[in-house]
Amino acid sequence: MAKWVYKFGDGQAEGRAGDKELLGGKGANLAEMCSLGLPVPPGFTITTEVCTWYYAHDKSYPQELEEQVDAALDEVGRIAGRRFGDPENLLLVSVRSGARASMPGMMDTVLNLGLNDETVEALASDSGDARFAYDSYRRFIQMYSNVVLGLDHEMFEEILEDEKSRLDYEVDTDFTAPDWQRVIGIYKARIEEELGEPFPQEPRKQLWGAIGAVFSSWMNPRAITYRRLHGIPESWGTAVNVQAMVFGNMGETSATGVAFTRNPSTGENALYGEFLVNAQGEDVVAGIRTPQNITEAARIEAGSDKPSLEKLMPEAFASFVAISEKLEKHYRDMQDLEFTIERGKLWMLQTRSGKRTAKAALKIAVDMAREGLITPEEAVTRIDPASLDQLLHPTIDPKAERDIIGIGLPASPGAATGEIVFTSEEAEDLKSQGRKVILVRVETSPEDIHGMHAAEGILTTRGGMTSHAAVVARGMGKPCVSGAGSLRVDYRSGMLMAMGTVLKKGDIITIDGGTGHVLKGAVPMLQPELSGDFAAIMEWADKVRRMRVRANAETPADARMARSFGAEGIGLCRTEHMFFDEERIVAMREMILSDSESDRRAALAKLLPMQRSDFVELFEIMAGLPVTIRLLDPPLHEFLPKTEEEIAEVAAAMSVPADKLRERTEALHEFNPMLGHRGCRLAVSYPEIAEMQARAIIEAAVEAGKATGKPVVPEIMVPLVGIVAELNFVKERIDQVAREVMKEKGVEIEYLVGTMIELPRAAIRAHVIAESAEFFSFGTNDLTQTTFGISRDDAATFLEIYRKKGLIEEDPFVSLDIEGVGELVRMGAEKGRATRPDIKLGICGEHGGDPASIAFCEKVGLDYVSCSPFRVPIARLAAAQAAVGRG
Ligand code: ADP
Ligand code: MG
Ligand code: MG
Repeated sequence: MAKWVYKFGDGQAEGRAGDKELLGGKGANLAEMCSLGLPVPPGFTITTEVCTWYYAHDKSYPQELEEQVDAALDEVGRIAGRRFGDPENLLLVSVRSGARASMPGMMDTVLNLGLNDETVEALASDSGDARFAYDSYRRFIQMYSNVVLGLDHEMFEEILEDEKSRLDYEVDTDFTAPDWQRVIGIYKARIEEELGEPFPQEPRKQLWGAIGAVFSSWMNPRAITYRRLHGIPESWGTAVNVQAMVFGNMGETSATGVAFTRNPSTGENALYGEFLVNAQGEDVVAGIRTPQNITEAARIEAGSDKPSLEKLMPEAFASFVAISEKLEKHYRDMQDLEFTIERGKLWMLQTRSGKRTAKAALKIAVDMAREGLITPEEAVTRIDPASLDQLLHPTIDPKAERDIIGIGLPASPGAATGEIVFTSEEAEDLKSQGRKVILVRVETSPEDIHGMHAAEGILTTRGGMTSHAAVVARGMGKPCVSGAGSLRVDYRSGMLMAMGTVLKKGDIITIDGGTGHVLKGAVPMLQPELSGDFAAIMEWADKVRRMRVRANAETPADARMARSFGAEGIGLCRTEHMFFDEERIVAMREMILSDSESDRRAALAKLLPMQRSDFVELFEIMAGLPVTIRLLDPPLHEFLPKTEEEIAEVAAAMSVPADKLRERTEALHEFNPMLGHRGCRLAVSYPEIAEMQARAIIEAAVEAGKATGKPVVPEIMVPLVGIVAELNFVKERIDQVAREVMKEKGVEIEYLVGTMIELPRAAIRAHVIAESAEFFSFGTNDLTQTTFGISRDDAATFLEIYRKKGLIEEDPFVSLDIEGVGELVRMGAEKGRATRPDIKLGICGEHGGDPASIAFCEKVGLDYVSCSPFRVPIARLAAAQAAVGRG
């Protein structure tokens, strides 16, 4: 016979903590606490398999269930010395839902089940406390009517409030027994009015009603939404826990409370929690009265004049302290506890691993490792890498006052304050005067890169989480709020319109890229703390990780930042970003406008020393660590002016006819630039560009090697290769230049030539490409675009719809599409290695900083991941977790 019901009580249990799949989190932990000999009211768990059965069989139950429930109920009664439905010796129960993972908002618990007009009298005489009995009954009617009968919770609250004000009472505990009796009468009349039938009186009917409500709640819209947001499969199902009641509302020697074994916001190793005297269930969290502190130390710190549990009920407190210590040791993690004290006796009602802030998670993991409770390796697995993001940026002081003038998307974390500027030029100007600015745009484009660099943060009024502003800001580690639709930018008048206020250029604002808030004025900030616990976890992570972690960086500032965050080299230096600088873009434009190769070479000669000095600086900062430099990648029209106004301005500055400039801009226009004349295609058309860049790289490597005494081995990366012939063509030029430079300088240096794998064809032909390429870097941004045939810049509008409609779970530009794009990465890596066993394999692009994608990179055996400097610590931790198989 199938077993659908698992009992616990009296120091024994049929289940254990490891049975979460079958018993749900709450049921499994109740069983475990029982087996540990802790005081837990007896009960039983109806398994998640019943839930599955229920939905597979038209919402009915397996035949044996009723019998098993009856038997378990008898056993509970035997342990408690009572009987369900027996007024002579009343057993009341709670019915509690319990999925594998805690799912707030799924179903509320029903307490005091088994009460009716008759049994309530028995409870009154039995307990010698009529007030308590009627209070319990009215609570039961409220909960049952709401949870099982589907009546509005508010309806009861209103009746209660009416009575309270009529009687001139302040709190619920002021109600006397006759008061509650009258309230119960009003409740019942209202219920009958609403439903056309009286409140169910039969305890067994009540019980099955509650059980059915728990199973039905698995499919309620709140639960479905919650599951979708948290990636919980529908197939898991929920369990139902039925448990003998204990009462925290039996007068002044009774209480109910919640606690954490350590402080969940700071991580401090001190019991932390709250309780209420003469209360039940969720009164503490519902805030009906101000709860009291559990420990005397916390009471003093909070400056509360209400006695602590420690003072009020010293015996119950002492056993609670002992139990919380025992549970923490047993589970080897900080626990979140629920308890009730009935007439001085302590009962445990729940334990689970407690939620905590990122800061607390670090402290708790490090402390526990130092206490010897867990190993350093385990400590590393206890931190959610993504949560580190909160700690790596300045944040708004939680105590600060906030004047919020708009809300957008939290596009890139961190908070920043500065003067409003509306153009990138202004941003650079003011920055060079040592002022701090926030770049405010309707949206940004590649021409704004220098302005974004100069700004403390970026605010846009249009665009989503994958808009240009959002992606670039995340890459730079700059705070960004995107798509703040309630704000309006008027470039002409230099104003930012918000609801109720108008700000102008030069006014101070603060943005919070972690919440999407836009605030007026400056706000106090907290600076990131990278020493202490953070450093300890990073050190332990570095010991266990296999993959190296590099950064995507092109400016000296980014490169320094990357090193300070522990980057072990640069995985992607995008050279085009170096050309947007004011002085350089002129030479770049001259080059583009040149009619002959010799003119082009002349313009390139002006760029050479600037490129070289950029590289020298990067190499020096990286002091011998690997640096991958990508040759020019974007289509040339990105460097040319667009509007008539800009064309006229640039033409005048360069003293070329505006017509010529316009013609050239038009000639370079492409219908689909993402798939157009870019990447190595540029180097094939204009080899002199690649030659200049190769020269700058090799010359810089020689120079920096001499200066630092550490030989530089540059990695020259050819972008957008689809056929090996492209790579061979460019590589020949690079090798030629390298030979020339080495001859000129009279030194030999090592360098590598490799390619990005960012087109499906390159992944498919990787074994052939590896004959020439000494390394591959999987450019998964473009590889995702080209595999899906989705343009990242245009995806925001429809990918969000896909997500809402449940067609995709994750944005493939944020977390690598393992089944599709990942398959190409795996294939490319395998084929590359088959041809060249020592080929260096890495990944660059946003996925290099995404923990799930990093776990995948570990699986396919990449040598390194490369991500934006601010994500380096996240990647170090994620790589460590992946290495120990916990990513
Ligand atoms: P949730 O999952 O929302 O925390 P619970 O099932 O834990 O819901 O129950 C809500 C509240 O009811 C908790 O405060 C819990 O301590 C209390 N409670 C549940 N069962 C009992 C019981 N048998 N006796 C006394 N209080 C109970
Ligand atoms: Mg709840
Ligand atoms: Mg609970």
